[in-house]
Amino acid sequence: MGKEIAVAIIGGDDRELVVIRELTDKGYRLKTFGFPEELLPVGVISCQSPAETVRDAPVIILPMPGIKENGCLYAKYSPHDVKITMEDLFPAAPGAWVFVGKASYYLKTIIESCRFRLIEIAELDQVAIPNSIPTAEGALQLAMEQLPITLHGAKTFVIGFGRVGETLALMLKGIGAEVIVAARNPSQREKCRILGCRPLELCRLRESIYEADLIYNTVPSPILSQDILQRMKQEALIIDLASGRGGTDFHAAEQLGIRALLAPGLPGKVAPLSAGRILARFYPALIDRCLSEGSSH
Ligand code: NAP
Repeated sequence: MGKEIAVAIIGGDDRELVVIRELTDKGYRLKTFGFPEELLPVGVISCQSPAETVRDAPVIILPMPGIKENGCLYAKYSPHDVKITMEDLFPAAPGAWVFVGKASYYLKTIIESCRFRLIEIAELDQVAIPNSIPTAEGALQLAMEQLPITLHGAKTFVIGFGRVGETLALMLKGIGAEVIVAARNPSQREKCRILGCRPLELCRLRESIYEADLIYNTVPSPILSQDILQRMKQEALIIDLASGRGGTDFHAAEQLGIRALLAPGLPGKVAPLSAGRILARFYPALIDRCLSEGSSH
């Protein structure tokens, strides 16, 4: 496909710049908002407003973090805050596709009102699995910066064994850490055993947590409660990777003098180029699939 398809890209960071280059190379016609012209490839149109950018476009790409509940667009290169309203997106083509990492309730309401179609890509395996690599690398980097001990030999708990948990456990094993995986799902615990990690039923975390030097949480639900935190070693570190508010009672951690860090958005922070390449691999096929689906109705 390519050529005649107009794609609007509104806001974002260096990841979207990689996507812009890739889509331009593939022949898509791009209109963008929120990037300095000097960073854009020749032929890409730089617009003055979101409404001008999306006008008649059948596809809108929003940044991975999307639009906040207060309407603020994530746009690293914009010199000022940009608030997106329904009027800004409405001029897109009828039934336009909107791609975003994760949509806020605010964005979902706009999309529903405009009768656009939404795809949240952060949760799709084709994005979430490769994205687990920069996430895990960033998580290791953070621990190395914060801890006075090596990860080699450190007793490290990984809570949750989905896409991020598995990649993280593998990397920790590779670096020589002792890895304990706490998961509620028996098949995930069996898999972690095959990878050479020690499985732990999530409901038994309380009994073993005193062993931990380092704890990674990947479960986006309350897990590290005050009851569990007070059984930890004082010098242990928690790095919470889960979305939203994470799974740690940060208030209790502070009261107990335990260091706990919420670490969102690691791929974009630690490896924007690689994270951008993941998106650039994924978007062309997604655009073509959505538009051929749209035209068959
Ligand atoms: P995932 O593949 O869905 O894995 C989630 C894991 O958490 C699974 O083991 C799942 O177990 C478990 N889990 C979910 N809800 C649970 C609950 N209520 N109680 C106990 N266990 C529960 O997700 P992922 O791709 O690994 O991502 C994990 C988290 O990291 C997400 O919140 C994601 O948004 C976030 N993330 C953060 C970054 C960052 O930079 N910090 C980057 C990427 C992703 P079951 O299979 O039994 O449900």
